[in-house]
Amino acid sequence: MKELNFSQSVDVMFNRAASYMDLSPKLLEKIRVCNATYTVRFGVKLRDEVHTFTGYRAIHSEHKEPVKGGIRYALSVNQDEVEALAALMTYKTALVDLPFGGSKGGLCIDPSKWNAEEIERITRRFTFELAKRDLIHPSQNVPAPDMGTGEREMAWMVDEYRRLNRTDIDSAACVTGKPVHLGGINGRTEATGRGVQYIAQEFFRHNDDKKRAKLRGDLDGKKIVVQGLGNVGYHAAKFLSEEDGAKIITVIERDGVVRNTKGINIENLKQHMISGEPLADFKGGKVSTDADALSDECDILIPAAMEGVINKSNAHNIKTKLIIEAANGPVTAIADKVLRDKGVVIIPDMLANAGGVVVSYFEWVKNVNHIRFGRLQRRREENKATLLLDALEDQGGLKFTKKFRRDYVDGAEELDLVRAGLDDTMREGFTHIRDLLAEKPELEDYRTAAFYRAIDDIALHYRSLGL
Ligand code: GLU
Repeated sequence: MKELNFSQSVDVMFNRAASYMDLSPKLLEKIRVCNATYTVRFGVKLRDEVHTFTGYRAIHSEHKEPVKGGIRYALSVNQDEVEALAALMTYKTALVDLPFGGSKGGLCIDPSKWNAEEIERITRRFTFELAKRDLIHPSQNVPAPDMGTGEREMAWMVDEYRRLNRTDIDSAACVTGKPVHLGGINGRTEATGRGVQYIAQEFFRHNDDKKRAKLRGDLDGKKIVVQGLGNVGYHAAKFLSEEDGAKIITVIERDGVVRNTKGINIENLKQHMISGEPLADFKGGKVSTDADALSDECDILIPAAMEGVINKSNAHNIKTKLIIEAANGPVTAIADKVLRDKGVVIIPDMLANAGGVVVSYFEWVKNVNHIRFGRLQRRREENKATLLLDALEDQGGLKFTKKFRRDYVDGAEELDLVRAGLDDTMREGFTHIRDLLAEKPELEDYRTAAFYRAIDDIALHYRSLGL
């Protein structure tokens, strides 16, 4: 079988789940297709010449609005890619119960070829092109960071949107992933990686899930291979190694592979990469340039770079028990079948990397509410906790240590609430899949159950309208 393109691959996975559902083919078709894709071409004068850039915004499903999804800056960006990614956003937000439809955007550009000032001008112009078509809008379409973009680009986007919409009181909600001082939320940058950690923790809480993957115990000492040390891979690897005791034995990056059977110090490696020194000079592990590190033997493989990296050509060689898809679409439909046949368990992207959009949701809610989380109740919570401890000491004869008092009385700040809300949402998403698999074992795998649950949720929306 020939390798499929990205959106065909997503469709195969969709159809597999749909084949177990009692829905009309016409309704399934409506749910599956991408509603609209806009292509914008615009010129920016840079280095004394006009350069023409091509950008996209695909809107997969508007069954809920605003539609939500990141904007990617990469040379790989094309219509098929943004449409597939927009579809994944629809299913992702449905699976974890967010009130959004799915969208995705991209600009075909190599960000490393341009300096910050040039990227700013390109970003502002792209934002203008999107804004004049309502493709960036607090109640219609809310972009966020993705590959090649981050807080910096979101800051320029919100600023440009504000210039164009001086009287829009909700302008901050036109984009998420902004710096905190421009209306962003604490914990958004780390959110996708944090979500990967929470989902891994949740998986290891359940014996039946571990059994599926022939794994035991908890994350402590588990051998992990991570592909890509960008925002998502870095945070996931850092938290899993520093907080859960997992050993990151291999990190695969664009310019080489780092291996260390004792576990790589992720913070040191990241700092080394940021310093611009060649990867080959990194002292915390063995560095090589071999192309088959994805098949290093491990307990957990975390592809955290981009789509299609595990495909027909290498799926047979993968030697892991569990794959956690931190990237969007890292396993093609053909590879998915090969891995299923081999007994490799996969926690699909739709759930595993939902952390980003979950915290984006919190940010958007904060923006439309114009108040940060915890602002009203924090001191009140602290006063009540103090009252309780004082009474227990005065009348109950108890004595609390200073540390216990501090920990107990300390009211929740925004970051605490964001983390708690993210953890809860990730666990609940996993519960949806677990429960469905228990009820319908014929679905076999997490991905099919995730698609089933997402499609069912969207179908319910249309059915309520009598369709
Ligand atoms: N780009 C991220 C994703 O693929 C985040 C999207 C968002 O926050 O809207 O899920």
